[in-house]
Parts: sequence; structure tokens; C-alpha cells
Amino acid sequence: MAELDAVIIGAGHNGLTCAAYLAMAGLKVKLVERRKTVGGAAVTEEFHPGFRNSVAAYTVSLLNPQVIADLKLGEHGLRIVERRAQNFLPAPDGSYLLTGEGRTQDSIARLSAKDVAAYDTFTTELEAIADVLRKLVLRAPPNLVDGFTLSAVGEAFNALGTANIMRGLSLDDKRILLDLMTRSAGEMLDERFESDLVKALFGFDAIVGNYASPYTPGSAYVMLHHAFGEVNGRKGVWGHAIGGMGAITQAMAAAARAHGAEIETDAAVSEVIVEGGRAVGVALTDGRAIRAGAIVSNLNPKLLYTRLIPADALPEKFITRMQRWRSGSGTFRMNVALSALPSFTALPDEGDHLSSGIILAPSLPYMERAYDDARAHGWSRKPVVEMLIPSTLDDTLAPAGRHVASLFCQHVAPELPGGKSWDEHRDEVADLMIATVDRYAPGFAQSVLGRQALTPLDLEREFGLLGGDIFHGALTLNQLFSARPMLGHADYRGPLKGLYHCGSGAHPGGGVTGAPGHNAAKVILRDHRGVFV
Ligand SMILES: Cc1cc2nc3c(=O)[nH]c(=O)nc-3n(C[C@H](O)[C@H](O)[C@H](O)COP(=O)(O)OP(=O)(O)OC[C@H]3O[C@@H](n4cnc5c(N)ncnc54)[C@H](O)[C@@H]3O)c2cc1C
Repeated sequence: MAELDAVIIGAGHNGLTCAAYLAMAGLKVKLVERRKTVGGAAVTEEFHPGFRNSVAAYTVSLLNPQVIADLKLGEHGLRIVERRAQNFLPAPDGSYLLTGEGRTQDSIARLSAKDVAAYDTFTTELEAIADVLRKLVLRAPPNLVDGFTLSAVGEAFNALGTANIMRGLSLDDKRILLDLMTRSAGEMLDERFESDLVKALFGFDAIVGNYASPYTPGSAYVMLHHAFGEVNGRKGVWGHAIGGMGAITQAMAAAARAHGAEIETDAAVSEVIVEGGRAVGVALTDGRAIRAGAIVSNLNPKLLYTRLIPADALPEKFITRMQRWRSGSGTFRMNVALSALPSFTALPDEGDHLSSGIILAPSLPYMERAYDDARAHGWSRKPVVEMLIPSTLDDTLAPAGRHVASLFCQHVAPELPGGKSWDEHRDEVADLMIATVDRYAPGFAQSVLGRQALTPLDLEREFGLLGGDIFHGALTLNQLFSARPMLGHADYRGPLKGLYHCGSGAHPGGGVTGAPGHNAAKVILRDHRGVFV
């Protein structure tokens, strides 16, 4: 029998969460992580001498409060603060929208009197739906299984439980939910609002990490996905982890270690060892083999199944379908070291807007053109940029008087057309992103002391995010809920006995949530007890 109860491939935040729950339940767990640091896409690193930032994921809201409480992340040093304002959207004509407690309505009223009431109605509708869907986040979705087996009966009860939760929605809310699951954000926003900036505020959430136009059917779901969050009990709000996103994963690692989990970094898995149709261990690139009762993958499922498991060990139809898993965000991520804070033409003085998510994308048609351009050219020559300056809330990131900013840029093609390589175009596109900010805040380019630019290819190489997909696979209806990562495998179990999924490629999908890790641990514990107790 294996000495370990579980080995987890990858120490992203979900691998760490899963390890912590398993270790808390008394299992002997080991994590093996390819990078030198734990955290996956939620890490803080020095990107320029003296300047640290959240390198990939950069803002907190989706992290599940239950996970924060169970893992006692506060006791392990995690502190999350709210932004002083939520979002700032400047327009080229000098107008702007600034949202946050006590200011949203006034700011909208300056753009459109009609949109004030429409905003209240829409956010109330979204909140009612998010409230109910939040109850599904920490549950395995109903899994579809063939035949009338014991597990089919169990899944029927699970489906009843899910249906019961959905009864919490009124018929009207169910109708809106249907729209949100199937329609484009653009259509829904055009029906409700008249101001371009108000539409852009919501529309940005529909295209973040989603290589699509806001008018692509299904984009409304991505908008809803970004509404599930909360910060310190305040729903729908976004915040900042002091010390950056790495503070979250360092606290998770401390929680896992406190309960006995072993974490090894600089330890890449080259293959999952399969014997007699069962996953029994992992082979590392340094030649070692580690055997365990459960093999748990924190990786994008396509990466796991197409690169780490021999195709002949998997059912043919399963692997054919997995090769079609849609994975590729249109994102380009930059970290910049700044000598001074930017001054925006629309709101030049320093103020709370500089601690908010600054969205440079003044309308839905602008976002659609960005997508079309990226499809044709490889990147949008008028891109969408969200800028966050976390050093306005956190003095641990930059030297006194200096600042760091995250630029989250959309739309670029996951793979460049015409055989072009991202390695040849990284600097050109990075210059374009800086110039884009400079158009709204003249002088910004001059204030840049250093920069790090991550193309989709870099995100794949550095973090194992295939096609730079920030969610481990698109959040489209055919890749969500009971279909994540595939119908018949929504229960966190892979197609081989002993193999489990605990990463963002499982329900409820991407974002720094901890939810897939939590849900996978529950299933692994159930199986563990069934087998060994
Ligand atoms: C640029 C960017 C910006 C984002 N912004 C936000 C944001 O602001 N807020 C938010 O909530 N979410 C954001 N996200 C999404 C979020 O970060 C991810 O969905 C989430 O962190 C994924 O967590 P995970 O634990 O499932 O997987 P990952 O973090 O991807 O972890 C997987 C781990 O597996 C390791 N690994 C890969 N291959 C191997 C191998 N062969 N052997 C061993 N280990 C291996 C990887 O190194 C990695 O550490 C962003 C993502 C990106 C990329």
C-alpha cells in the first residue's frame, strides 16, 4: 500500500486548499509544484529591483469566505482590504464614471438620469441570482452517470438538492438567469442602459479572460461569474490582499503545513503512473516516483490529459473530447514600476479613483472592435486595459514615494495568426499597452521605471496556463457546472480510478476562489473513507 494518502500535482491556490482540507481530516498529503514558489497564478514576486507585485491574478473578491474561515487564513497572516473606490472609467471626451459606496448613483446621474434606476434594478437582480448561485459554489454539481447504479441514485439526490437551492429564485429571477447563461452581455446591457460608460462597467466583466466580444452569446455568464464575490462580508465588492495575491497562497500553504501536509517546490511531474487502469503515483522529471492512494491534479485538465497521461491509458472518446477543451484567454499581463502616480485628464488630482480598478475601454463597441482586431491582426491596436495601483493601498510593494501597477490587457490572440511568435512581438505589444494608458494619463509612459510583460505564451510557459487561459478553460455553457471538465466527470473524479481534479478546470471554474479545491477534498475524503475505513 502507498505510504501517502494523496499526492497533489501543483501547488496553485486550489491544490493548497485541497491539501489543507485533506490534512485537516488526518490524511497524509504531499504537494509537488513545478515552480520555485507555491501559489500558481496567485503569487507575489519581485519583478523589478525593489518592486513587488501580484504577478498574474491581482485582485480579490471571489475567495470563498468558508475557505477563509476553515483554513483560518486570517490567523496565518492574510489581511484583505477594500479598494477606496471600486471602478473608474475615464472617457476620451473627459467624462468619467466613478463607482463605490456613496458615489455610484451621483456619478451615473451625471452621465444619464435614466441609468440610475436601471443600475439599481440590474444590480439587485444580479445580487439576487448571485446569492442563490453562491450556495452551489461549494457543492459538486449533479454528475451524469449511465445506468441505474448506486452512484446514479446518489446523483439523483444531488440533483434534487440543487433543484431545491434553485427554488430560492423567483420565476422572474430564473428568467434572467436563463438570459445570463445563454445571451450576450452586450444585448442585455443595451436593453437596460443608455450610457456607454455604464455599459462598459459591466461589459468589462464579460470579456475579462474571455476571448470574445461582449456581443458573443454566453458572455453574459462571464459577467455573472465576476459578481459572486465579496470582501470581508461586503457582497459584490473587490479588494486587495496586503502583500499581494501571494499573501493568500502563503497563508494557505501555512494552513496546509500546520496540519502536516508536505510541500515540495521545484518538483515537476512528468507523468501520472497508471497501473491496471488505476492512477497510482506520479513520476517527477528528476526521476523519482511518488506513490499515493489518490492522485489529485491542480492542472488545466487539457494539460493533464494530453501531456501527463499516456493516451492509451485513457478511454479514446474521453481523450478525443478533452483535446477539444477550449482553453485560451485573450489576455496580456503587465507589471510596471512607477516613479509617480498617474494623472488622468478626466480627473487629474490624486484621489480614491487611483485605488480602484481603472478600466480603459469606453464602450461596448470599442470592446467588440478590440476582439475583432485581435482575431485578424493578433492583438488589438486599441486594446482594453484595466489598471490597478495596489501600492495606493499597500506600502509593502514599492519603495516609499514609488508605486507599482498591474495592467490587465485584453484582447490579444492566444496564438498569433500567420505563424508569428509571441516572443517576437512581446515588446511591441507592451509598448502599445503603456501608450494606451498614456493617452488617458499623459506622462504615464515617462514614469515607468521598469516593466514585466507576460504574453499568453509566457502565461503558459510560466504557470502552465494553456493558451494563457486564466480560468483553466473557457467559461462557456458546454464547459460549466455538470460539464466541467466533461459530462460524467463533474464529481472531481477522473476517468481512471484514484485520479481527481481539484483545479479551476473543475466546478465552479476559474478565479481565486478555493472552491474546486474544497469540493475535490470532500469527494476524496468520501472515497478514502469508503476504501480504507
Ligand atoms: C493574468 C491573470 C490574471 C488574473 N486575475 C485574477 C484576479 O484578479 N482575481 C481572481 O480571482 N482571479 C484572477 N485570475 C484567475 C486565477 O488566478 C486563476 O483562475 C486561479 O489562480 C487558478 O488557480 P488553480 O489553483 O486552479 O491553478 P493554478 O494557479 O494554475 O495552479 C496550478 C499549479 O500547477 C503547477 N504545475 C503545472 N504543471 C505542473 C507539473 N507538471 N508538475 C507540478 N506542478 C505543475 C503550476 O506551476 C501551478 O502552480 C487571473 C489569472 C491570470 C493568469
